[in-house]
Amino acid sequence: MPFSPFHAVVFDFFGTLTPAVPSRVRDEHAARSAAPLGIDAQRWRRAWDESWPERAVGGLGDLRETVTALAARCGVTDPEQVALWRACEARRAAQHELFALRPDALRVLETIRRRDVRIGVLSDCSTELADHWALVPAARWVDTAVFSCREGRRKPDPALYAEVMRRLGVTPERCLYVGDGDSRELSGAKAAGMTAVQLRAEDWAEHETYDRESDWTGWRATALTHIATGLDYPVVLQPEHERPPAAPAPFPPPQPAPPSPPVRPDLPTAPQSAPQSAPQPKPARRWPWR
Ligand SMILES: [Mg+2]
Repeated sequence: MPFSPFHAVVFDFFGTLTPAVPSRVRDEHAARSAAPLGIDAQRWRRAWDESWPERAVGGLGDLRETVTALAARCGVTDPEQVALWRACEARRAAQHELFALRPDALRVLETIRRRDVRIGVLSDCSTELADHWALVPAARWVDTAVFSCREGRRKPDPALYAEVMRRLGVTPERCLYVGDGDSRELSGAKAAGMTAVQLRAEDWAEHETYDRESDWTGWRATALTHIATGLDYPVVLQPEHERPPAAPAPFPPPQPAPPSPPVRPDLPTAPQSAPQSAPQPKPARRWPWR
C-alpha cells in the first residue's frame, strides 16, 4: 500500500507527457503527407483539423481509411495506391515524432511507479498512438492506457474516467489526474471525483489545442517533477487559496530598531562622553625591601 494519499495517477498524453506542439510543426507535418497526393498543404491540414472530432472517436477507421476519406474531401478520389501508401507512411512518421516524451517524463513515471502508485494514461487520440503504444517508452511504466479512438468517446465524457479508474482498481478520491487542460479534461476529471492538476509547463502557451481550459484555477504544476513531489506533499500542487493556513511562528519576530531622532544643526549637541581609553597596564608593584 503506498504511503501517498493517492494510489494512482492518470496522465493525459499530448502536451503533458510530451512537449508542446506548435502550429508551425503541424503545418510542416501536413505538408509531408499532402505531397504524395498532390493536395495543397494548407487544405490538407484543414481537412485533418476539421475531422478531429471524428478521428478522435475512431469514426474514420484505420489510418489508410482515414487518409482515403480525407483525400476525397480534398477532391482526390481513388488515388494511386503508391501515393496513398506514401501519404500514410509520411503521416505515420510525423505522428511518431510527436510521441517523443518530455525529458523528465520517464524519470517521473519510474519514481511514481516505484512508490507502488499505479499509473494510467487517458488520451484523446486518433489511431496512430493507439496502434503504436506498445513501442512508446512510457508504456513500460504505465499500468493501463485508455484511448478515445478505441472507446468511441472523447474527454470530458465521464465514461472514460470511470473506465481508466476501473482498470486501475482505484476510487476517485485516491486518484490524481494530470493534464494540460485540453478538451476540458480537468473539469471532466473533477466531475468524476478525481483530484485534477493542470500541468502548465514553460511551453504551455505554444501547444495547439482543442477547447483548452485556460481559466483553470485549481491545482497546478509547472513541471512534471512536481507531480512526483506532490504525491507525498500535495500542498505543493495546491493554489494559494486552497492551502491550509500557515502555522504561527514559534517565537515573536524581531522588532525593528526605533528610528534615530532628526539632527537639528541649530541646537547645541549633547555633550559627548569622553571616549573610554583603553585600560592602562598597572605599574609593577615594588616591594619595600627592594
Ligand atoms: Mg493534452
